[in-house]
Amino acid sequence: MTKATQEEETEATEETTETTKKKEDTTDILDTDLESLPGLGPATKKKLNDAGIYTILDLAVKSPSEIADRIGSDLARATEFANKARLQLVSAGVLEKDFVPASEIYKKRLAIERISTGVKSLDTLLSGGIETQAVTEFYGEFGSGKTQVCHTLCVMVQLPKEQGGLDAGAIYVDTENTFRPERIAGIAEARGLDPDQILSRITVAKAYNSSHQELIVGELGSVLDKQKIKLVIVDSAVAHFRAEFLGRGTLADRQQKLNRFMHMLTRTSEARNLAVVVTNQVQATPDAFFGDPNKPTGGHVVGHTSTYRIYLRKAGKNRIARMVDSPYHPDQEAAFMLGSKGVDDVPEDAPSKRR
Ligand code: ATP
Ligand code: MG
Repeated sequence: MTKATQEEETEATEETTETTKKKEDTTDILDTDLESLPGLGPATKKKLNDAGIYTILDLAVKSPSEIADRIGSDLARATEFANKARLQLVSAGVLEKDFVPASEIYKKRLAIERISTGVKSLDTLLSGGIETQAVTEFYGEFGSGKTQVCHTLCVMVQLPKEQGGLDAGAIYVDTENTFRPERIAGIAEARGLDPDQILSRITVAKAYNSSHQELIVGELGSVLDKQKIKLVIVDSAVAHFRAEFLGRGTLADRQQKLNRFMHMLTRTSEARNLAVVVTNQVQATPDAFFGDPNKPTGGHVVGHTSTYRIYLRKAGKNRIARMVDSPYHPDQEAAFMLGSKGVDDVPEDAPSKRR
């Protein structure tokens, strides 16, 4: 393991659970200006601000190598800033200490919430819905329903808790120009909701290339502080990286950037107790003699950083979702369909055809 990865690994970004008493005292520190860090002058502050890092929390959730990259400093100096930021958050009770009792972690995990997908079979597959404090990846070929799942989730997250939502808004990072407000409006209407109200709680960010995409996710903090957001979508997480880094020679670079990007998402989901959903394409592996030749793109990087991976495939008019590599979900499948409600249950009298 390289030094940089080790530092990245050890940089914990845990927020105390809502049940912790200190919670009320932490709001101020979350907004604390960077200049309150000893040794951080106005010039560095400006560079950090230019890179979308405004608060101590923004700084603490970034990896030192990323900070070094963004402000053009050496790794040691960036590590020093990241550590100082972390220590301030620890002493304010925002971050947990490096050694935490398992009971604390358990308490934090009790704060995990779920967003219904709007489909019973998919919710069952996901043990109740998409989890906060996790990155859930949907991968599959074109037209398999990834974008439809994302659109539906943007509506579902807004429902009250008793109806499967979290009474909160969503951020949609659109990298392929496939976000359609009219589709959101249609899904809302089909589900008996007010389209205007639903649209008003979805913030869209179009990412024009991989660096822009990274910048947008790095700046999420400012939006998250202003609104109650419980869902961040990146559709697609990998496409720009694939398009820009072609050929074997650039593979290492691509994987490093992608790794940094995925880690940033994981940290945000944990620190803010929100759900992150990313989509990913597949590529055919011609050397696969048995089974499905489609494999997710992005290699090990995306696979290892996503908490849950769900493979979507077409099955006639319907779609099949399969949970892949989950730490605790059984390896099972669920059928669903695409329709006016976005994603929906397959009617009982029309069983799905399996391939
Ligand atoms: P890509 O890899 O190209 O991004 P995707 O997995 O994101 O693909 P989606 O855009 O989610 O694919 O799915 C497209 C499919 O969704 C269409 O082929 C169509 O079957 C279905 N679809 C889209 N809009 C509607 C609608 N209003 N009603 C019913 N089905 C729809
Ligand atoms: Mg899509």
